[in-house]
Amino acid sequence: MSNRVVHVAPAVVPVVGPPISDGAIAVEAGRIVAVGAQATLVPASPDAPVVSWDGVLIPGLVNAHTHLQYTSFAAVGAKPHPSYVAWSERFVTEYEGRRTEDWGATARNGVELGLSTGTTCFADVVTDIAALDALADMGVAGVSYLELIGVDDNAWEGRVRATVVDTLRQAHRSTHARVGLSPHAPYSVDEPVLVKAADLAREEGVRLHIHLAESDSEDSYYRTGTGALAERVSLRVGRPWSILARGGTGMGAAEFASACGLLGADSHVAHGVYLGTEGRAILRSAGTYVALCPRSNLTVGIDPPPVADFLTEDSPIAVGTDSLGSNTSLDVLQDVALLRELAVGGGYDRPDLDRRLVAAATVGGAAAIGLDSDLGTLEPGKRADIAVLGMDSDISELERRIVADGAGTCIATLVSGEVRWKI
Ligand SMILES: [Zn+2]
Repeated sequence: MSNRVVHVAPAVVPVVGPPISDGAIAVEAGRIVAVGAQATLVPASPDAPVVSWDGVLIPGLVNAHTHLQYTSFAAVGAKPHPSYVAWSERFVTEYEGRRTEDWGATARNGVELGLSTGTTCFADVVTDIAALDALADMGVAGVSYLELIGVDDNAWEGRVRATVVDTLRQAHRSTHARVGLSPHAPYSVDEPVLVKAADLAREEGVRLHIHLAESDSEDSYYRTGTGALAERVSLRVGRPWSILARGGTGMGAAEFASACGLLGADSHVAHGVYLGTEGRAILRSAGTYVALCPRSNLTVGIDPPPVADFLTEDSPIAVGTDSLGSNTSLDVLQDVALLRELAVGGGYDRPDLDRRLVAAATVGGAAAIGLDSDLGTLEPGKRADIAVLGMDSDISELERRIVADGAGTCIATLVSGEVRWKI
């Protein structure tokens, strides 16, 4: 019983079961030991202090796709751009103007922003090594994915592979804060390196993450080596990469990623806007989650994700904000609210919509990055990562209110049972 604390609230949403009115969560040594009714759990631990919250307790949110080091890029993400290529050029200009940025500090700021909106776990893509330790150093959960971008086979064999291995092995990590590898996208890394990076991730026992089917010109790039993205890649790289040199692969985005070994239950992708029915089926059969980032999609001038199709087909989904370079906040619940609008607009009318979107933003994200045995629901044995939403706690239609109106309502965030943020 030592060090046990019982958190009580008018409503608890375990995600693994229906909401509990006048609920309680008993926590010991940073882990949940019981979840249930206050009337049962409080008397069962007579010596434990009781902490009373005026709100709704939900599992800490999981931001399944972000780049925390770009938390200082708010000027780029503040408003929509006319096209993906236009956004991409604006982003590169911002990045190149920040050669002296303290990327570790900006990533840690991103963690603080996440905590202030109830997020306790992150799939963080790290371009600059200085940001690689941010999750472990801040004591939050997630995977820090070291990014590969603009790498061809000569560079990989000459220097990059050895650096990646050293960097992954030396990174700070913990049981809950791990490292992974992220070839940025199948168009921004040369084909042989995609295959070798996927092999390396498995040799090192780390997870994979890629941007996939984000741009509307990606498909023609893989299929025929043509289109706006193909032109831009040729321009930036200065010569055709192997796909362009051979006039495309004849494969769509998901088929090509699969052929390179980039999909599987140990990988998840971001965006997936232009996968199509066939592409989603390839990911689904591979057990690969898609982190949907609808607000980012609209900012970079592309279409929103077809979330109604993902839900109808039972494709595994999670939710990401992407970075402040393509979004106005790191509040996962803002993206969840937009996903609801899109799902309804897309014709999804089943009564499980809100429950599934709450699950996508919690246990779905945890599953996408391989941490769902420890995070993402409120149940005994899991880490006590909890968000407190200051909202009407009537359990009737509570999940709908969390999804539609939960953004901006976080009043406290607990990590491993410790209060890490409080309004
Ligand atoms: Zn991204």
